[in-house]
Amino acid sequence: MRRQKNSTFPDPPDLPSFTIEEDPEATHKGPEQAPPAAFERHANTGLRRHDVTLDEARIDADAAKIVRRLERAGFQAYLVGGCVRDLLLGGKPKDFDIATSARPEDVRAIFRNCRIIGRRFRLAHVFFSGGKVIEVATFRQKPVAEMLEDELAAAPEAIDDLLIRSDNVFGEAHEDALRRDFTINALFYDLDRQQVLDWCGGMADISRRAIHTIGEPAIRFREDPVRILRAIKFAARLDLGITPDVVDAMVAYRDELAKAARPRVFEEILRLLRAGAARRSMWLLWESGAMAVLLPELAAFLDDHEGTDGGANRFWQKLRAIDEKTARQGTPLDDIVLFSTLLHEPILEACAEEDDKIAAAYEFLEPIVERIAVPRRISDIMRRIIAIQPRLEAGRPGRFARTELISPALDIFELDLISRERSTAFVDEMRARVIEENGGSFPTRSPRPVRASRRRRHHT
Ligand code: ATP
Ligand code: MG
Repeated sequence: MRRQKNSTFPDPPDLPSFTIEEDPEATHKGPEQAPPAAFERHANTGLRRHDVTLDEARIDADAAKIVRRLERAGFQAYLVGGCVRDLLLGGKPKDFDIATSARPEDVRAIFRNCRIIGRRFRLAHVFFSGGKVIEVATFRQKPVAEMLEDELAAAPEAIDDLLIRSDNVFGEAHEDALRRDFTINALFYDLDRQQVLDWCGGMADISRRAIHTIGEPAIRFREDPVRILRAIKFAARLDLGITPDVVDAMVAYRDELAKAARPRVFEEILRLLRAGAARRSMWLLWESGAMAVLLPELAAFLDDHEGTDGGANRFWQKLRAIDEKTARQGTPLDDIVLFSTLLHEPILEACAEEDDKIAAAYEFLEPIVERIAVPRRISDIMRRIIAIQPRLEAGRPGRFARTELISPALDIFELDLISRERSTAFVDEMRARVIEENGGSFPTRSPRPVRASRRRRHHT
């Protein structure tokens, strides 16, 4: 789309591949394999069962315990969503979610270590030692607001009532599968029968490593435009292809993202940066045009590659460095580091010609903070950290070195040095010095907030 013919432009990241190889772990058996009469569940729901033996060693033992206990109590219970997808693709699930026919009260009656959360969207949380929480959700239908769009338009007075009830309308397993976003996210795993239950062709999409919405992409993205960001996240993180009709709908409906709940959008952008595939995610965000809707300042900066004095190039290098560091340390980087680094280059550009750099940074960030609901906690710290960078460069962090911001500030500085192909030994030395001066660890003291107006007066 906007890729420029310039030899200095970084190689595009490896875009998600689109393969049609069969997944060796997935043993397909056709629907002619009728389920034994003993569990004539889900009759006439269009279910396909696939016999698949997932390695129990990769399944969370507590999650398995919950599933088995619910089944023993006479309920249906399955592993669902991301964990099934990740296990089938050979990855390591982040967490294990369970869907069940049991109501939240039933779940609480069975597990002592259980709490019901949410008012409209009630879920059971089962707690284990070490702070582990496993979410057990009762099968639900598609929200009424989505299901009855036309009917609601005809009877607007019913909307409030329907919306309140809509989130918590319990349903059958197949309804719970079909309300989900992508086919690969809608697979249920029956632990004891060792079967993947598939109502929407998710298994075929796992095999060909493809992302496809359940149903019409245009409808599903309009229902919830955050799904556009989720498609990018799964493609980038799991190295999957997005089918062409889905890509077309993402591009066609990208403007809908402006209507999405802003905190959800911000959280989803952070997830794109945290998952170890920040570079590929941002590339897809840019290429799809979704970046121009959510972060037009950054999209324009990248579009004008020629005019950024290498800034666009450094931007991609920084994202590469973020991904490498994430892989090395095995956990995501601090949100402050991620979001500051995302905007560092355009901020530097915006401040370059200005005397009052803090005020210029404020001016640059303000519309972004508004548009995607960046929490003040993050935006204030970002401005402080970016303002301190020249002092870090000079090796003189001063009192700042005694605040908790020094650690993310040094990370951001390090990423900047990497993007300029300069040595980072200097940062390592500074880190060691800060830790030594602070008695063996990074400081944890919060800095005093600095108001823009106060700083501005000092400078002018
Ligand atoms: P991750 O590994 O990032 O947690 P996940 O697939 O588990 O990926 P979650 O956000 O934890 O993603 O959501 C759990 C499940 O809920 C998804 O697998 C999907 O089935 C369903 N889901 C999440 N968000 C949506 C959405 N916006 N629309 C429809 N279904 C959704
Ligand atoms: Mg999840």
